[in-house]
Amino acid sequence: MTAPLDVLVVGAGPTGLALAAQLRTYGASFRIVDRSLDRVHESRALGIQPRTLEALAEFGVTDELVTRGNPAMQLRIHLPRRVVQLPLFDIGLTDTAYPFLLFLSQAETESILAEHLARQDVVVERGTELVRLKREGPAVSCRLRRGGGGGEETVDARYVVGCDGAHSTVRTQAGIGFEGYAYPQTFLLADLEVDGLEPGAVHTYMTGSGMLLFFPLGSPATWRMLAMRPPGAPDTRVKLEFLQRITDLYAPDGLVLRDPVWMTDFRLHNRGAAHYRSGPFFLAGDAAHIHSPAGAQGMNTGIQDALNLGWKLALVCQGRAPAELLDTYETERAPVGRSVLRFTDRAFTIGTSRNPLIRFARTRLAPRLAPLALRATGPRGRVFRTVSELGIRYRQSPASTAGSRPPRKGPRAGDRLPDLPRGLQARRAGRGWHLLLSGPPALWPAERLASVLRGRDDLITVHRLGGESPWPDAVQGLVRPDGYLGYVARGAHLEGLRAYLERWLPAQQR
Ligand SMILES: Cc1cc2nc3c(=O)[nH]c(=O)nc-3n(C[C@H](O)[C@H](O)[C@H](O)COP(=O)(O)OP(=O)(O)OC[C@H]3O[C@@H](n4cnc5c(N)ncnc54)[C@H](O)[C@@H]3O)c2cc1C
Repeated sequence: MTAPLDVLVVGAGPTGLALAAQLRTYGASFRIVDRSLDRVHESRALGIQPRTLEALAEFGVTDELVTRGNPAMQLRIHLPRRVVQLPLFDIGLTDTAYPFLLFLSQAETESILAEHLARQDVVVERGTELVRLKREGPAVSCRLRRGGGGGEETVDARYVVGCDGAHSTVRTQAGIGFEGYAYPQTFLLADLEVDGLEPGAVHTYMTGSGMLLFFPLGSPATWRMLAMRPPGAPDTRVKLEFLQRITDLYAPDGLVLRDPVWMTDFRLHNRGAAHYRSGPFFLAGDAAHIHSPAGAQGMNTGIQDALNLGWKLALVCQGRAPAELLDTYETERAPVGRSVLRFTDRAFTIGTSRNPLIRFARTRLAPRLAPLALRATGPRGRVFRTVSELGIRYRQSPASTAGSRPPRKGPRAGDRLPDLPRGLQARRAGRGWHLLLSGPPALWPAERLASVLRGRDDLITVHRLGGESPWPDAVQGLVRPDGYLGYVARGAHLEGLRAYLERWLPAQQR
């Protein structure tokens, strides 16, 4: 009998591809299957957030994403008699190397991730559909069907991760609910050329009846258009003439649409999985949460789900971490998913409501107040931190432990390691955990450190930070493989760190 796989990854969208990349880095045995014969060629999700760019740097693909993408620094709000210009991201984000929203077609993002996997000899098994899951003893029996009459096979896996999108088979077979609602409005979407728009900015046209947006996509077309189908408009197939009529209605400044590459319409939902884990089954990405594209959160949240989970699965399967580490996936990521559902719902309601008060606020008040509000660094910083996903932290997680003397200033246990001073994140770019020691080297003599790290030193790299540190004091900070601080303590004592490691990364007998 062959040993079960560590993990079966179902779905090779952005979430599944990111998960496969991390499972590969950490040496898990896995397969990744997708029922489609080819990856998507449509633009779909087009905004990549700063936190996702940071997180994907682990695979060395971020430079390629940035080179192929289009960073937008300005939002231009077109009102009947004037245009209000707002900065996007460029102020207040001092602790990241990527202080911008990157516009890139989802097709390109997936192709860059797939190229990375190919270089790592990972084969994405396309035309292969998961049809049934059955728990059998310690493993799951997974029935796979190959398209084109390729027959069926059964593969055993210890864990199955559903990265299989909104209609997830894994979610259904695991019996996990997916509660929520559909919005009544229909949306129109097109990738096309537009004459008359200033390049390099996001343009929004606000009217009482709805919004029209243009995003600087770059490729395969210069612009992504998004608009609400006006109430009462015919529910027919989307055609260029119809989109032009809508544009003339919302943006009466003579824009001309041409050369569409993709036109479609769609309804939006707001739904979340009741659980992100049920026994050996996990959900990530759209399988766990779907919502409006307001704020460009969907694909980003999915990729970050994957990068929270992959290293945990790999270390647990290799006997390097206890099985309870897997419970922290839901503890950490389900609140993020819920907050994205709430945030996108609020933004969607403000953007589309026909309530006269909200319409007044949207078209008259917001454009006037926004420039003033953006001068107030506090609120602006909070909004940008949320949208950029840099503000995500896991302080309440059992895998986040503050030592008996927490740092007086600087990041705490559960926080993301900032890129401040610049280059700090690059220092921990290598595989595994990273122990940052900030303060005089004599505080932590090599032999004392060695005794704490013994039996796990192949997975932990030690960095002595000298003056280049996010903490003004003498601090020990242990960074997890996903870039979040698991343990932070002030002072020379290493007993708290030893206890943390005993719990989450027990020493191996060699
Ligand atoms: C028209 C449209 C426009 C969008 N615009 C935006 C946007 O502007 N911004 C944004 O953030 N998001 C947008 N999205 C959403 C975004 O595309 C998703 O959030 C993102 O693709 C989620 O990635 P995922 O990998 O979790 O799921 P998916 O990309 O849905 O991938 C799931 C994969 O699983 C495969 N699969 C499904 N069932 C099985 C099975 N049983 N066996 C094997 N394989 C299976 C599918 O073939 C698919 O490849 C848009 C989506 C659509 C459709």
